[in-house]
Amino acid sequence: MGSRAAQQRQEARQLAARLSAEGVRNVALTWVDNAGIARVKTVPAGRLAAAAERGVGMSPVFDVFTSDDAITASDHLGGPDGDLRLFPDLDRVTTLAAQPGWAWAPADRYDQLGLPHPACQRQFARRMTEHAATAGLELRMGFETEWVVARAPAGHQAATGADEPLDYPCAGPAYGMTRVVELSDYLRDVTEALSVQGIDVLQLHPEYAPGQFEVTTAPGDPVRAADDVVLVRETIRAVSVRHGLRASFAPSVVAGAVGNGCHLHLGLYRDGTSLHRSPDAPWGLAPDAAAFLGGVLGALPALLAVGCPSPASYLRLQPSQWAGVYQCWGVENREAALRLITGAPDDPDGGHAEIKTFDAAANPYLAVGAVIAAGLHGIESGDRLPEPQTGDPGVLGVRERARRGIVRLPATVTEAADRLEKSAPLHEAMGEVLHGAVLAVRRAEEAHFAGSEDDEIAAATRWRW
Ligand code: GLU
Ligand code: MG
Repeated sequence: MGSRAAQQRQEARQLAARLSAEGVRNVALTWVDNAGIARVKTVPAGRLAAAAERGVGMSPVFDVFTSDDAITASDHLGGPDGDLRLFPDLDRVTTLAAQPGWAWAPADRYDQLGLPHPACQRQFARRMTEHAATAGLELRMGFETEWVVARAPAGHQAATGADEPLDYPCAGPAYGMTRVVELSDYLRDVTEALSVQGIDVLQLHPEYAPGQFEVTTAPGDPVRAADDVVLVRETIRAVSVRHGLRASFAPSVVAGAVGNGCHLHLGLYRDGTSLHRSPDAPWGLAPDAAAFLGGVLGALPALLAVGCPSPASYLRLQPSQWAGVYQCWGVENREAALRLITGAPDDPDGGHAEIKTFDAAANPYLAVGAVIAAGLHGIESGDRLPEPQTGDPGVLGVRERARRGIVRLPATVTEAADRLEKSAPLHEAMGEVLHGAVLAVRRAEEAHFAGSEDDEIAAATRWRW
């Protein structure tokens, strides 16, 4: 233990020296709260070794912060007492291309005795990844990032931004080249900053809603995928600021319009071989992959309390907007909550699945952890996938949907929270403290927005994530 600590200290010192030589002055240590907000403490680059050794203090009360910065309480958390230590993951320290003089690292949270904080979402994600590994399963995951870009109004720093009309810097059609031409410098700077920071960009395109774009990045280990989406989002934000723009990652930027999703892609592997490429199995899915996905599909109502955590999430979740609001799966069906992607038959890594329903208000660490927990439970219970659905369930009559066994996913955060509260497998996987904190935040957010009009919810949450 002693020699490991000494080695870590040595590594941290070398890293700090390298950062200083690169002109880095400060390192931002982020973790994501249960309302999906990346909270931060920063340290001077020269303090990185001390931070790696002793951690940086931060109150446990942030576990019960809501997205409007109000504070609620759970049975275990809340109030002014206590302290936690943020430990930067030195393997992920990244010099930030669009914030000269800054570096970033995701943090794990421990108590003052050095024990894991039971509500640390990043360690939850790691624990679930390790459980999967114990069962011989490797998950490769990646989030898509959708965002809407708008011109920053003069003096916006002082304003809440809630009532400002959006001023789009591009006017071109959905998925149209015009938008890429209009914003070519900005988009080049986004992809360049990501690449320089070691993020493998797969593609970038204009999306459906006005001013909306999407970037996808290469899949990786689940914790890495969650770290990556935090870094991607903060990088887009930083590049936007440098271009006089603002980026909204909110689920519903304008109520009633297509929103921002944050779809989670997941591929299952055993011994390095994809479980989506079994030649004799239905849809190419090895039995464990089918059971895993069956478990995820069955748990989706409860998982929405993790993946769609805000009252604003449910403004986005409308049928026929590719947001996946029905509890069904389909092969390449963009209206199914769970979309099976087959890829080119000769691509060994082409097969995977996508949860379309999740959005960027979700804590990505909680999202990957909860999905793995649901999938592993599916394997343990021998779950199966029902028949896949083709077409848009939203255009079917109520009777036809019922005949096909297609159920609408929760339509409010309260409904989703009720399902999470009752989910024994997710409760057990998350543990009492984390499960309780997540539920407390969901209940507080619902109460905060009770009686608000859709427009008010969208405006109040537009710039929060
Ligand atoms: N913007 C859509 C959503 O709310 C997704 C569009 C797409 O399929 O990429 O999730
Ligand atoms: Mg998209």
